[in-house]
Amino acid sequence: MTPEAGRVQEIEAALTAVRERLHAACEAAGRHDDVMLLPVTKFFPASDVEILYRLGCREFGESREQEATAKAAELHETFADAPAKWHMIGHLQRNKARAVARWAHSIHSVDSDRLVDALQKAVRRAHDDGDRTTPLNVLIQVSLDGDVHRGGVERADLAALADHVASRHDLSFAGLMAVPPLGADPDAAFADLAQLHRDILADHPGATQLSAGMTSDLESAVRHGSTCVRVGTAILGSRPIASPVQTTDHSSHN
Ligand SMILES: *Cc1c(COP(=O)(O)O)cnc(C)c1O
Repeated sequence: MTPEAGRVQEIEAALTAVRERLHAACEAAGRHDDVMLLPVTKFFPASDVEILYRLGCREFGESREQEATAKAAELHETFADAPAKWHMIGHLQRNKARAVARWAHSIHSVDSDRLVDALQKAVRRAHDDGDRTTPLNVLIQVSLDGDVHRGGVERADLAALADHVASRHDLSFAGLMAVPPLGADPDAAFADLAQLHRDILADHPGATQLSAGMTSDLESAVRHGSTCVRVGTAILGSRPIASPVQTTDHSSHN
């Protein structure tokens, strides 16, 4: 067996197992498979993304701008017949908005007014340059414990930021995202997030997406209304270098 065939088998088995796990989580929560599985491909090569694509995946999550921009370019031809959607799920610096606006379908990690303005400008420009035709789907990342160094807007500023996103013509306010605080009970964290989401929905009924749950806690997230679980490790294995969920680049925080 070639190394590539081995990798295909490995990924196929893991993907099947995660799909079954998600299905079981939906059943247990009395839901009807209405949760999207977003494979997170950061730190893994474009060849792994291509394997997932051949296995039927059409949406992928990435968290580092340079790596994602390169992968999106590398796979552009491969995805020509059935276009795939890229989701930026990690912290984004304003000066990277232009690159992301050219390949991202969605961004899950918007947490400041200044980033909103940079994205609006970047998406407009990408439209004008013929690089995209659709608005950018925006999810606001909420910091559940107020530790904004891990990314996310503080809850006190959430409503105003949501209004700001909704006011921008080339951005479509799609919902909320959060990562449970380190060491927190995921059920408590996701219940808290679900309440914040209900509050936001009262003012923004179109913001129906709730991006919550990863390899370790997807069942809990599904119980609390997640519409999208972002799963890396359970599908592709351990990442090559230690990368705790890291949504903020400390070296260059804007
Ligand atoms: C890396 C990452 C994930 C995937 O985490 P796993 O534990 O590997 O499933 C999910 N969300 C964000 C924001 C990430 O950066």
